[in-house]
Amino acid sequence: MTPATQARVPEEVDRGALQLVAEGVTETVGFQLATISVVRTAPDGSQELEVVADAGDDATGEIIIGRRTPLASLLEEIKQAEVWGQFRFLPHEKLTERDVQNAYGWVVPDFEPIDAPDAWHPLDLLVALLHDASGVLRGTLAIDLPDNGRRPGPEQRRLLEKYAVQAARTVVTTLEREELSEQVRLAETARRIVRGASAQQDLSQVLSDCQAGLVEGFRSQGSWIQTFDEDGRGSGAVYASNGDAVELPSTLVDLAERSARRSWAEQVAVVVAGDRPVPEVLTRDEQATIVGFLDTIGISSLLFVPLGAGEECLGNLVLTRTGTSDWTELDQQAALDIGHDLGRVILNARTFQREHELVVELQALDTYKSQLISTISHELKNPLTSVRGYLELLEGSTTLGAEEQRAVQAMGRGTDRLGRVVDDLLLMSKVGDPHHRIIPVAVDLARVVGEVLDLLSVTVSTKQLAVSTDLPDAPVAALGDETEIDRLVANLVSNAVKYTPVGRAVAVKVDRDGDHVVLEVSDQGLGISEADQEHLFEEFFRSTNPAATSLPGTGLGLAIVKRIVERHDGAIDVRSTLGKGSTFTVRLPVAG
Ligand code: ADP
Repeated sequence: MTPATQARVPEEVDRGALQLVAEGVTETVGFQLATISVVRTAPDGSQELEVVADAGDDATGEIIIGRRTPLASLLEEIKQAEVWGQFRFLPHEKLTERDVQNAYGWVVPDFEPIDAPDAWHPLDLLVALLHDASGVLRGTLAIDLPDNGRRPGPEQRRLLEKYAVQAARTVVTTLEREELSEQVRLAETARRIVRGASAQQDLSQVLSDCQAGLVEGFRSQGSWIQTFDEDGRGSGAVYASNGDAVELPSTLVDLAERSARRSWAEQVAVVVAGDRPVPEVLTRDEQATIVGFLDTIGISSLLFVPLGAGEECLGNLVLTRTGTSDWTELDQQAALDIGHDLGRVILNARTFQREHELVVELQALDTYKSQLISTISHELKNPLTSVRGYLELLEGSTTLGAEEQRAVQAMGRGTDRLGRVVDDLLLMSKVGDPHHRIIPVAVDLARVVGEVLDLLSVTVSTKQLAVSTDLPDAPVAALGDETEIDRLVANLVSNAVKYTPVGRAVAVKVDRDGDHVVLEVSDQGLGISEADQEHLFEEFFRSTNPAATSLPGTGLGLAIVKRIVERHDGAIDVRSTLGKGSTFTVRLPVAG
């Protein structure tokens, strides 16, 4: 290791560090001009040298910083050069036709060589090739105009070699830093986009939110995003990034769709510009079509990125730049990554949109069902009332024979049952109607329980059920609609009585728990399977248990209970074991 390789690389390496190296060469080694260039990739894929630091003549410096020359022509020229360590020295005698301006970016100095055998000639070329650790050429250090007017001797060359090593390190570090900060910037862009794209928004919102970030992150002039239809066919919407939205001709939209599918399959993001080679996913004609269109809207180049998730291509993203077709490998890679992120976003947004549409459809269906129930039950109510009236007349008639009387009784039972169904349906549509508000009053639950049990007393004694009650000494009142709470208690207690076999027990308990009144109805009845419990409160649901369905019922009782509870800001809970029994617990807000 030579002492020069131990030279400390400054912490803050930027172009300033390269400038220091260049100045070191001029001041310490005794040259009037030193120029450091780095290797860049040109839009057409060829390599160029870009001047990034120079020391010496200030006026010249301003002109040449940033100037680019083809690397190939330098390498061609120095084939004849003498090898001095890292340096290549090409004495003017070896030149046939040399274009210093092209190769180095500075003009040939205008001076008279001194009169000596080792005199420096204006056309002499001395340049160090700066390689990275893996031997890749990353830049050059070119020097000119020795103070003493002579070609460098052994001592000067030794010193120059030191600077070449330091320049190489500095160039590599600078380029790495540049690349790193670019990577950080692009990663930041991607993160911002994914974060900003919430699945809760609709797709056009998500995409327009993303576009600002994309345009900024990629330093592009504008962008547009095309998403494909959900069925995967045809082309969906095209979203442009800025106010002056680009109206894309349909041929171009179709072309973009085809290219997106190809690019997604190949997993590439491609650059399209007049001065760039035809990308592998396009034909020459296709490229010409795109470039022709870009010309008409004053755009120099675009980066075309497929969007997708898994196998599926979901759209494409186009980023445009004016005045340059210079998109780096890093840009393309980052854009492809964003294509994956946006693909997921599109998929999420689609799912969200689909769910939303489904909810709307279901709500419409629910409204339709409620209206249907309400209309039918009202329509049934009137004829049923008149049938009942005439049946009562017949029942009172003394002229009927025994057979006719049995028929009238059967008709009476039938209309009673029908009447219960219609009543349930009417109540169902009433408690399910959000416009039908409750006017809350204090309802003494113990009293309601007592009344309900009175009404059921005949059945209770027929079935020899052991009914017990656990009621508070002082009245406990729930806050709500008297009729509805009455119906709630009646439905729960009558279910317990109905679904409990002969001779078993039913228990009803009322209690207060803080701000709530708690009603608990337990039985030693048939019980409800876990699978049935999931649907218990749905309209028209009847158990899958044949022992239960053999008993008369509409499947509306618990649905009504649930709606009443919800309308009262209460809660209902069921615990049940098939074959053992059930406990329904209702909590309602306490009155007062
Ligand atoms: P219905 O009793 O008119 O069928 P419900 O909505 O009141 O309608 O009850 C729905 C179903 O839940 C019933 O068919 C029955 O199978 C079951 N079920 C309700 N309460 C009980 C209970 N206490 N014990 C056992 N099964 C019950």
